[in-house]
Amino acid sequence: MDLYFKENTIVFLNGKFVPATEAKTGVYDQSLHYGNAVFEGIRAYHTSQGTQIFKAREHYQRLLNSAERMYMKVPYTLEQLTSLTYQLLEHNHLSSAYIRPLVFAGPNMSLKGAGKVSVMIAVWEWGNYLGNDVLDVMISSFQRPHPKAFFMEAKVAGHYVNSILASTEAQNEGYDDALLLDNEGNVAEGPGANFFYEKNGKLYTSPLGHILPGITRSTIMQIARQVGIEIIEKHSKPEDVMSADGAFFTSTALEVCGIRAINGTKLRKDWEDTLGYQLQALYKQKVLLGEYESYAII
Ligand code: PMP
Repeated sequence: MDLYFKENTIVFLNGKFVPATEAKTGVYDQSLHYGNAVFEGIRAYHTSQGTQIFKAREHYQRLLNSAERMYMKVPYTLEQLTSLTYQLLEHNHLSSAYIRPLVFAGPNMSLKGAGKVSVMIAVWEWGNYLGNDVLDVMISSFQRPHPKAFFMEAKVAGHYVNSILASTEAQNEGYDDALLLDNEGNVAEGPGANFFYEKNGKLYTSPLGHILPGITRSTIMQIARQVGIEIIEKHSKPEDVMSADGAFFTSTALEVCGIRAINGTKLRKDWEDTLGYQLQALYKQKVLLGEYESYAII
């Protein structure tokens, strides 16, 4: 048994709730050979109002959009997917969980779009997935894919080969994770997270185009604006971010994760003194209660 399932874990697969130990797929699947699958990463939180899937609508809408981009026909509506996920959490007696829906293509050795697909949803308990409080990141030698090579707004399995290369390179070099540039040399995002940095009391993040439009990214932008922090979407160069006061990654899995140093250069402020640190606390409040307890922090 591994991290993701136990003897009694249940997954959803093609209309049925089945034991994870019995959920199988085939060695001829187009998804396995060519990376043609779409997926989501979602979190459910145990809140004062019971189990709440954070931004279920936004995540399942993105899944359906990703599937459409890849010519896949998902046989469920957004509402059905959400309801199935709540049922799956109940089957597994989980209220706080990471949720992984995957839409994948069956046996097909051709390069033609899949059409008919399988739908799998798995849930498991997952803490902060990089495990570190504050990260040392490396500017990757790998760039994010060219937006004319892929639909950057789609969350497609095959895109993550680029992320695997960047993360592995960074870890082999002794860093915690990577920060990737786009094909024009601008700072884009992490292998599985969006990137923000702080300078002179303002926050900066990459504009859409070369990055995955993260749901956490837009949540953080919304919270920041509500508490009066100015956020500027603009292209930045490595030297801009290496001289930042602070920086952080955002993603559903990581939530808000501080960055201590970039390419070995320590950022000016300690993490606890940054805007990112305050936003991390506000994000936690938002996912747990639906609203912040107060705006008083900043
Ligand atoms: N960028 C990439 C490449 C990602 O894989 C993710 C994780 N889905 C993100 C950004 C953050 O997206 P979200 O906040 O919607 O989880």
